[in-house]
Amino acid sequence: MKSRPGGGGTPQKTHPGGRGLPGGKEFALQLAGPPYFSAVTVLEVIQRSAEFLARKDVETPRLQVELLLAHVLRLPRMGLYLNFSRELTPPELDQVRELVRRRGTREPLQVIVGSTSFCGYEMMVNGRVLVPRPETELLAECGWTHLNQSGLAAPAVLDFGTGSGCLAITLALKCSAARVTALDISPEALAVARQNCARHGVAERVQFHEGDGFAALPPGAEFDLLVANPPYIPTAEIATLEPEVREHDPRLALDGGADGLDFYRRLAAEAGAYLRPGSLALCEFGDGQGPAVSAIFATQMWIVERVQADYSGRDRFVVLRRGAGPRVA
Ligand code: GLN
Repeated sequence: MKSRPGGGGTPQKTHPGGRGLPGGKEFALQLAGPPYFSAVTVLEVIQRSAEFLARKDVETPRLQVELLLAHVLRLPRMGLYLNFSRELTPPELDQVRELVRRRGTREPLQVIVGSTSFCGYEMMVNGRVLVPRPETELLAECGWTHLNQSGLAAPAVLDFGTGSGCLAITLALKCSAARVTALDISPEALAVARQNCARHGVAERVQFHEGDGFAALPPGAEFDLLVANPPYIPTAEIATLEPEVREHDPRLALDGGADGLDFYRRLAAEAGAYLRPGSLALCEFGDGQGPAVSAIFATQMWIVERVQADYSGRDRFVVLRRGAGPRVA
């Protein structure tokens, strides 16, 4: 996606390796990152870096530093506590400084370390995909529960706007009979999704198509379950979000048009043509959008079964049943 020049990439690729750079550049790095001096211990790095990130208004600064340091030292986070007095080597120190500097610019932790966990599965991420959110995990669970209870021998699933592929891949992993089709407009996002898919060994059952919405589907495609976590932020609100989101998540994955509801109108009008009567659609939405989203879907084509809250108690997705309305593809 075009909105993130220079975003993403693994830490290794972007690590400039401070030592050995011309003096001026190294000095600039020192200024930009937390100040470390020779012979620094794990505990000192944690403390100084946490202070640095706190000054940059990063939430949970100590936790963030611990996760970055654990990543660099290839330790579980709790392993740091057993190694508080260990001194970092100069290359380790350079690497930590660079990662903490990036976090100080409000680049998301997940993008810096290159992965996150979704429903217990590791998903690679970079700046070209929306970082999968814990709020979306319950939608995935609702999807695989439905698939496994459906009694269908080979249920067909459609993931509209797959991003990192987290929903498509998790559904394929949790339901070994499922065949999943995943759509995205962004070739860069699809590259990440394909890598995640291969890594989790489900490439044979997940097909990716690049394009704008349903136009990317092969003719005659029909599905038993639709999942979608579409862009739903009203355009003018994007500027008010945390820098991690507004500057680092791809804009295409966030922007839901003037009122944030463009994609629900589109799904309500177009998705029914690709779903078998009686099949289910699960669509995530943003804070407070439940009534408006339900109203958009309450047409001849859709039955709004319920609105489901996420683990934090906020209404988060709508469960829709494809009614017997006319197919208008
Ligand atoms: N389906 C992906 C997710 O749930 C991407 C969603 C998006 O890019 N809006 O994280």
